[in-house]
Amino acid sequence: MIFNGNQLANSILQTLRVTSKIKPKLGICLVGDSPASKSYVNRKLKACQEINVDAEVFNFQENVGQEQLIKHIQQMNHDGILVQLPLPPHLNKLDIIHSIPYEKDVDCLHMHNLQRILVYGELCEMLPCTPAAVLQILDYYDVNVIGKKVTMIGRSFLVGMPLSLLLQKRNATVTVCHRETLNLDQHIMNADIVISAAGHPKLVRNVKQGAIVIDVGISQGERKGKIVGDVDFDVVKNQASIITPVPGGVGPMTVCMLMRNLCNIWKKKQGQPVYINPKLSDAYLND
Ligand code: ADP
Repeated sequence: MIFNGNQLANSILQTLRVTSKIKPKLGICLVGDSPASKSYVNRKLKACQEINVDAEVFNFQENVGQEQLIKHIQQMNHDGILVQLPLPPHLNKLDIIHSIPYEKDVDCLHMHNLQRILVYGELCEMLPCTPAAVLQILDYYDVNVIGKKVTMIGRSFLVGMPLSLLLQKRNATVTVCHRETLNLDQHIMNADIVISAAGHPKLVRNVKQGAIVIDVGISQGERKGKIVGDVDFDVVKNQASIITPVPGGVGPMTVCMLMRNLCNIWKKKQGQPVYINPKLSDAYLND
């Protein structure tokens, strides 16, 4: 089965549509004019439009000072705030993320939120967006990960690290692979579920027959303007039971999870029930 990320994202976005007169407002800080960052921001703006919430983009010059940016963030009165990553090297990413009040941290990258979710295993109204997208895809297919062997390729702050911890909380047995991992192919072949977030084309060339393959990688393809994932799709699609394509797989779901976080922040503020991802395991809390 080939997953259709646009279709599922659109159907979830419809359930998030805001109909009230007063609506949540997202504030986005964009530094510099990288075409990739601009295109990500535009996708977020489009999703805001689709669910009828307000959004405002603050575009800073590439050489903006750390203090100036932090001061701006502290003065923002938006319900959800995010800083588009990556940032230029002269800025301290963590200090900037931590200047966002944690209850407005719609990307869910503030240490307060990550600690609650990933260290203490609290059920939470927010999740980091790309890991949430992957969990949502597994839930869509009703995949039970308990006791399953998951090979997670990549250990980044945005994807591999939080996702590997979330899957452990769901009682999967997770192997985390990275640049220095020896015999990567063996770890891939051994897995029931392969998730790749390395940004390296054709890193996943073969999987166990019937494995579930989630491709989070994004790189430039050989043809200009073409985006490719980490998985050799044409080969692996014949081995996998479920596979996500790039583009049109995890990407649209990530934006959709950002919208869910924004709506949850808003609902929590209004005292309304929020959507909580229900499948984190209670067992983990006892470990
Ligand atoms: P993202 O934020 O999308 O996860 P990063 O570039 O920050 O992307 O992280 C890439 C991750 O992928 C790193 O953890 C790195 O160790 C891992 N990685 C990169 N190349 C390989 C490779 N050839 N084999 C295994 N892991 C890799």
